[in-house]
Amino acid sequence: MRVEIIPCLQDNYSYLIIDDNNNSACIVDPSEAKPIINFLENKNINLKYILNTHHHYDHTGGNKELKKKFESIVVGFKKDSDRIPGIDILLENNQIWKAENFLAKIIHIPGHTSGHICFHFFQEKLVFTGDTLFSLGCGKIFEGTYKEMFESLNKIKSLPEETKVYCGHEYTLNNSKFCISYEPGNHDLKKKIEKIKKKIKEGQPTMPTTIKEELDCNIFLRAKDLETFSKLRDLKDNF
Ligand code: ZN
Ligand code: FE
Repeated sequence: MRVEIIPCLQDNYSYLIIDDNNNSACIVDPSEAKPIINFLENKNINLKYILNTHHHYDHTGGNKELKKKFESIVVGFKKDSDRIPGIDILLENNQIWKAENFLAKIIHIPGHTSGHICFHFFQEKLVFTGDTLFSLGCGKIFEGTYKEMFESLNKIKSLPEETKVYCGHEYTLNNSKFCISYEPGNHDLKKKIEKIKKKIKEGQPTMPTTIKEELDCNIFLRAKDLETFSKLRDLKDNF
C-alpha cells in the first residue's frame, strides 16, 4: 500500500491509497475530480472507493464525477448520508471497514462537523484526519462544542506514535507561527519549523506528519485540559 498526495483547489490535499498488487485505489476526500483523473490516467489503476472524512464541499466536490467515471463506491459516515454526494456505504463509529485489501477503523471525531470521521489504516499505521487534526493545528469548530473537539483530538492522540498523519489542508507553516508564539522555547517545534520551511521552499507537501511529531509540537494536542484548549482555539481564531 502506498499513498500519493494529490494537491487540489487552493490548499487541499486528496490522498490516493494505492494497492499495487490489485492495481486498485481509494481516494480520501476528493476536493475535485480533475487532478485525480489526471494522476490516474494511463496508469491502469482502478479507483474503487471514495472515502470522505466529512461532507464539506472541499472534501467531496469530486465525488460524483469520479463515481461516474470509475464506477467507484462512495464511503462515508452514516449520519451524514443526506449530505455526502453519491454515498453508497454507510459507516458507524468504531466500525472496521474492509474491502479488497483495504482495511481501516472508522473513528467518529465530531467538532469541526457533527459527522466528521477519520480513517485509521491500522495495519499500515496511517490515519487520514480531514479537517479535525492539522499539522500544528486543528480544525475550526463549526458544528460541535469545544469539548467534542477536545475529545476527538484525544482519540487521535491515543494512536501509536509512529502513525503517519495525513491532514486535509496545507496549513502547516501558518499554524507553526501560532504554535511558536505560544511555546517559543519548544526545541522540537523549532526543528520541525526548519523542516517545514525547507519542504515548502522545495514545493513539497509537509504531509505526512506523525502522531509523535504532533504530540511534541502541536499546542492543541499539548493543551493539558479543556479550558486551555478552548482558550487556544479562541486565540487562534483571532491570530
Ligand atoms: Zn471542512
Ligand atoms: Fe476543508
